[in-house]
Amino acid sequence: MLSDFYGDYSKTLAAAKQEMEGQKIKLKEDETDFVCELCGRKMVVKTGRFGKFIACPGYPECKNIKKFEKGTGVTCPKCGGEIIEKKSKKGRIFYGCNKYPACDFSSWTQPSKEKCPQCGGILFVKKGKKPSLVCQTEGCGFIKQE
Ligand SMILES: [Zn+2]
Ligand SMILES: [Zn+2]
Ligand SMILES: [Zn+2]
Repeated sequence: MLSDFYGDYSKTLAAAKQEMEGQKIKLKEDETDFVCELCGRKMVVKTGRFGKFIACPGYPECKNIKKFEKGTGVTCPKCGGEIIEKKSKKGRIFYGCNKYPACDFSSWTQPSKEKCPQCGGILFVKKGKKPSLVCQTEGCGFIKQE
């Protein structure tokens, strides 16, 4: 009786474990919009020892990997590229252009999707007790209280 019970139990456990592992892999491998320039497959987000990165699912035939970049959906005011979230060497988050090093736009302040009604520049998100959107264009100084 007892051995039957345990027999079934371990089978169920193994099945559950398999299922979980399958899910874990699915969760880890989020498809991205990046297409591998070496083999044309859609690249996926993976989590490794050093954090997230983007890898080609064709591994080991194709070993293409990229740094994981979180887009903000905000257009770079300097070159028209996209502003992405980056991490400084000290782990502090800042915002830079995805065309870097061709474009050197960077900001510690988070850019918003809203444009300044006075000068057409990007409004940056100023966090605090009263969050506001601030224009950083020299001589403009537009502030929008949320
Ligand atoms: Zn590839
Ligand atoms: Zn740029
Ligand atoms: Zn402005």
